[in-house]
Amino acid sequence: MDRIMTNCLDKGFYKYQKEFEEAAVRVLRSGWYIMGKELERFEGEFADYIGAKHCVGTASGLDALILACRTLGLQEGDEVIVQANTYIATVMAITTVGATPVFVEPDEYFQIDADKIEEKITDKTKAVVVVHLYGQAAKMDRIMEICGKYNLRLIEDCAQSHGADHQGKMTGTFGDIGCFSFYPTKNLGAFGDGGAIVTDREEYRDQIRMLRNYGSKVRYYNEEVGMNSRLDELQAALLSVRLKHLPQLTEERRKIAKKYLNEIHNEKIILPKHREGAGHVYHQFVIRCRERQALIDYLKERGIDTIIHYPIPPHLSKAYAYLGHQKGDYPITEAYADEVLSIPMYNGLTTAEQERVIDALNQF
Ligand SMILES: *Cc1c(COP(=O)(O)O)cnc(C)c1O
Repeated sequence: MDRIMTNCLDKGFYKYQKEFEEAAVRVLRSGWYIMGKELERFEGEFADYIGAKHCVGTASGLDALILACRTLGLQEGDEVIVQANTYIATVMAITTVGATPVFVEPDEYFQIDADKIEEKITDKTKAVVVVHLYGQAAKMDRIMEICGKYNLRLIEDCAQSHGADHQGKMTGTFGDIGCFSFYPTKNLGAFGDGGAIVTDREEYRDQIRMLRNYGSKVRYYNEEVGMNSRLDELQAALLSVRLKHLPQLTEERRKIAKKYLNEIHNEKIILPKHREGAGHVYHQFVIRCRERQALIDYLKERGIDTIIHYPIPPHLSKAYAYLGHQKGDYPITEAYADEVLSIPMYNGLTTAEQERVIDALNQF
């Protein structure tokens, strides 16, 4: 029996092979590879899809976050509130601009616990970075209320939430700037690295356009010390192809999730919870299990791979030892790190494969 992997990216290519190959050849033959009409078109299409006024392509999701932090003026001495159980890139963006991350524990949906934000606000707090982790929108009504009350800037890390909504409004459109990654495994994946920001504010769009291109608006006239962080023509053209099919790809993920939710029954396994009013695009299907290592081994023996998102929370990683956090500081986050397990969830996972995963989990 074939192994069931946690992802299978070639399936995503072959599904729309002809369209991808046509787009790639068009770009290769054009003689124009950076900052051209493919990028401009994708930025327009992605802004429309998300429901934002502007989109600016970047070289990665991390760069999108860094550019957002810079553009909102976050810097040394500023505190930025972020959930403790995120992927470390979110935190790296905050510290790259010199600001200090202030961690907040997650709720039962794995999202930032909105009721624990206010107690972390000080006179140094400048912004909140909210992460719609695993593809489910955070509790945006409450978060918007808090940001308004304390006049905090809001950045959304939508690297896992392309197309997820909160009460019908897309993630990425709540904050000052929404940041996306098009890393190949994301719900809208490129064939290499890529990212983007969306915003309704023209001045943020213009600033990020300048910063992503060496701080210049006019070639060789550099207004600020910028970066080289552009989304290239080839990736933009391929992303345009995939974006057209994204609603359908999201539907497929939701169907897989529904089957898992309906058919996995094992008291040792806690299924992911769905907040009322929060759209979920199931970037990952994350279960919890106290006997996680035994479960991983059991599934492996039956030819099923799993992955942990994430085994070490940022506050306990070596990279952030200098922040001085200890084990025990964020008990909910640390418990999740010990118990979460992502089971196979990707476009192209067959019904037979889903049933094998369900049977194995039920027999554990
Ligand atoms: C993937 C990811 C990022 C970083 O995106 P890259 O394109 O890999 O730089 C940031 N935040 C979250 C939550 C992610 O999942």
